[in-house]
Amino acid sequence: MRDTTGTYSAGGGHSGMRVAVIGAGIVGAVTAYTLCRRGAQVTLIDRDEPGSGCSYGNSGAISPGSVAPLAMPGILKSVPGMLLDPESPLRLPLSYLPRALPWLARFVAASRASAVADAARRLAALHAGAVERHLALAREIGVPELVLQRGHLHLYPDEAALAKDAGGWRLREQYGYRFEKLDREGILALEPGVGPRYRIGLFLADHATVLNPLRYVQAVVRAYRARGGALLRGHAGTPQRADGGWSLTVDGARHDFQHVVVAAGAWTPPLLRPLGVRLQLESQRGYHVQFQGASPTISRTVVLADRKIFVTPMEEGLRVGGTVEIAGLSRAPDPRRGQVLERIARETFAGIGQAPSTQWMGHRPCMPDSVPVIGEVPGQPGLWLAAGHGHLGLTDSVNTAVRIADAMLGETRSSAAA
Ligand SMILES: Cc1cc2nc3c(=O)[nH]c(=O)nc-3n(C[C@H](O)[C@H](O)[C@H](O)COP(=O)(O)OP(=O)(O)OC[C@H]3O[C@@H](n4cnc5c(N)ncnc54)[C@H](O)[C@@H]3O)c2cc1C
Repeated sequence: MRDTTGTYSAGGGHSGMRVAVIGAGIVGAVTAYTLCRRGAQVTLIDRDEPGSGCSYGNSGAISPGSVAPLAMPGILKSVPGMLLDPESPLRLPLSYLPRALPWLARFVAASRASAVADAARRLAALHAGAVERHLALAREIGVPELVLQRGHLHLYPDEAALAKDAGGWRLREQYGYRFEKLDREGILALEPGVGPRYRIGLFLADHATVLNPLRYVQAVVRAYRARGGALLRGHAGTPQRADGGWSLTVDGARHDFQHVVVAAGAWTPPLLRPLGVRLQLESQRGYHVQFQGASPTISRTVVLADRKIFVTPMEEGLRVGGTVEIAGLSRAPDPRRGQVLERIARETFAGIGQAPSTQWMGHRPCMPDSVPVIGEVPGQPGLWLAAGHGHLGLTDSVNTAVRIADAMLGETRSSAAA
């Protein structure tokens, strides 16, 4: 896949270009909005309500400092122990192992030091300016209250736990992300509701949080429609080459476009397979538990870093998200995963009290090296991919949209969001 970093063509002359975007998650919605805003005639297609896939239940973190890929050196050593521990953030049912093996082999290969350095460089390039662009987008679409810039507080019980993440923090430093180390007193000064387990904090002051990821997607789609973008509800089939472009069958009806952008999240590979495009993308199923009506407890994103859990003070209650479960697209959610999140949250934050909780599972679309695939498919002019955003699709949605729009329509020097 062509990496579109820095490959900008001349702008102008593309007004009215007919473009379809398959998938109205955060990535497809922002891409459709950006293309529409730059003069393309866009149709955004989803079989469901916009924002009801993975983008519905994420933790809302805009984390440009997360430049370390998931596969870090030494991961192979820690995986067997994690798989045997029912409380661990990683689950892989034995029955799914044969299906997952090719992806896992690539994941392990991606943990070599040279591959990690390359992935970090590409992630850093994609994340750059993400917070500023989300702030600008939220203002532009009329929901500035949804993006809170109050930093992210990562918590560890002790130096040994922090040492396990040292590689990730070194990469953050290397790419210029500043953080402050805090002791227990420093943690309590920021977040008095954090329980006694956590004694070390690392604070990224300039990071931000979307306080309602579903409402954010809905606001993007509303702004897109207000600019004349079309929304089509239905199941899209594999794009087919047609005269001067591509045709798409949506619930049996044919539609013709000059360009098609596939932004179908974890469901992207089957759409491309008939075209001979094999995308090594696997679902990493994540869970959240949300405590309805709980007292605020925290005032910013707090990461229980030793347990890989993000805690967010969402508009509608405290959300506790985490878990990587490699079990495919069709298996039912495992309620035990949410129960582990709930127990840890109640142990850590006494303020949750008796608040009732709801549980959710979603499919993170993950590449073995954590780097999403953004750009025109080689040998298939007019067919574009914006998929594989893994754990950072919210963070990277605006920059993905800008890359696609720049490469398809030409770079603009506009100072606005997208
Ligand atoms: C627990 C959890 C916490 C997370 N926390 C964060 C976080 O804090 N920060 C962050 O940046 N990221 C986070 N993520 C990751 C982020 O949510 C995803 O990377 C992102 O939502 C992916 O967006 P997407 O638009 O690619 O996919 P999706 O939101 O899944 O959208 C894909 C859409 O395509 C549609 N679709 C698929 N196939 C077809 C078809 N054939 N025809 C029509 N429509 C189709 C689906 O209906 C769906 O609406 C988290 C994920 C999880 C699970």
